[in-house]
Amino acid sequence: MKVNVAHYGGFCFGVKRAIGIALKTAAAEATVCMLGDIVHNEEVIKQIGSAGIKRIKRLGAGERKTLLLSAHGTGTAIIDNARRRGYNIVDATCPMVKGIHKIAKKMEVAGHTIIIIGDRDHDEVHGIMGQLKTRPIVIDQVHTIPRRRISKIRKAAVVVQSTQNADNVFKIIDGIKHHIPDVQFFNTICRPTRTRQAEMRTMPLKNDVMIIIGSRNSANTQRLCQIAKSLNSRTYCIASREDIKPEWFAGARSVGVASGASTPDVIINEIVAYLRQLNK
Ligand code: SF4
Repeated sequence: MKVNVAHYGGFCFGVKRAIGIALKTAAAEATVCMLGDIVHNEEVIKQIGSAGIKRIKRLGAGERKTLLLSAHGTGTAIIDNARRRGYNIVDATCPMVKGIHKIAKKMEVAGHTIIIIGDRDHDEVHGIMGQLKTRPIVIDQVHTIPRRRISKIRKAAVVVQSTQNADNVFKIIDGIKHHIPDVQFFNTICRPTRTRQAEMRTMPLKNDVMIIIGSRNSANTQRLCQIAKSLNSRTYCIASREDIKPEWFAGARSVGVASGASTPDVIINEIVAYLRQLNK
C-alpha cells in the first residue's frame, strides 16, 4: 500500500505564529491566561498548558496578569473589559482573521448590513461579531438563509469565516443575491484553507483510502473531511494513531494522508510511519 502525504498539511502560518507568540509570552511573563483555546488541537493545548498558560472561563482581576488572545480573534468588548481590569494584552490573532475584522468594521461604517458566512458557534465568528456595533446575520448553510429577514436589506457586505468550504460559500452567495439588490462579497477564506481544500478535491479520487488528521473541533479539519467524504466513501477522520483500525485498509493499494491547519507534525509523522509499517 502506497502512502501519499498531502503536499499542504500541518500547521498553517497563522497557527505557527500564534503558538510562537504564546510560548514567548509564557517565558517572559509571570501569569499568562487565555479565554478558550489558542487553536483547536488537544496536543497544542497541552503544550500551551505545560508552558504555564492558564485557561480561564471568565476575566477576574488583571493586575500583573497577561491575557493572551487566541488565533481565532476576540471581540472588542472582551478586550476593553480585560484592559479595564488591568490585564496586559498579547494578541495572537491570525493576521488573516484581523483582515476580516477590518473589512467587516469598514463596511459597517459605510452603511452595509454585515452578513457572515460561518459556523455561529465558532470562536472566529464570535470574534468577527464582536467587532461590530450592530449584530450581524450569520449563515452557515444555503437552507438556513433567513430569506424573509434578508429581503428587507438594501445593501449588504458579506465576509466569510476563514476556514469555510468554498463550494458551500458560493451556494450561499447565490442564494443571498436573489434577495438583496446590493451585495458586496469579500471572499475571506484564507490561502492555507484554499490550497488544502483544492488538494482535497483531487487527492481522495487518486487514493483508495483517505485519512484526515485533526481535532473534531477544528473547523478547517472538518471541512477537509466533508470534501474528502463526498469524493471517497473510504475516508476516515482521526485525531491520533490510536483511532486507526487496520481493517480500513483491506485490499487498498494506496492511502492518502491529509491534515488540518492546527495538527502538529509529530502526530502526522507518527501516523504516516504507522501506515508505512502496515505494509511490512
Ligand atoms: S487557517 Fe487561515 S485564518 Fe486560521 S490561523 Fe491558519 S492562516 Fe489564519
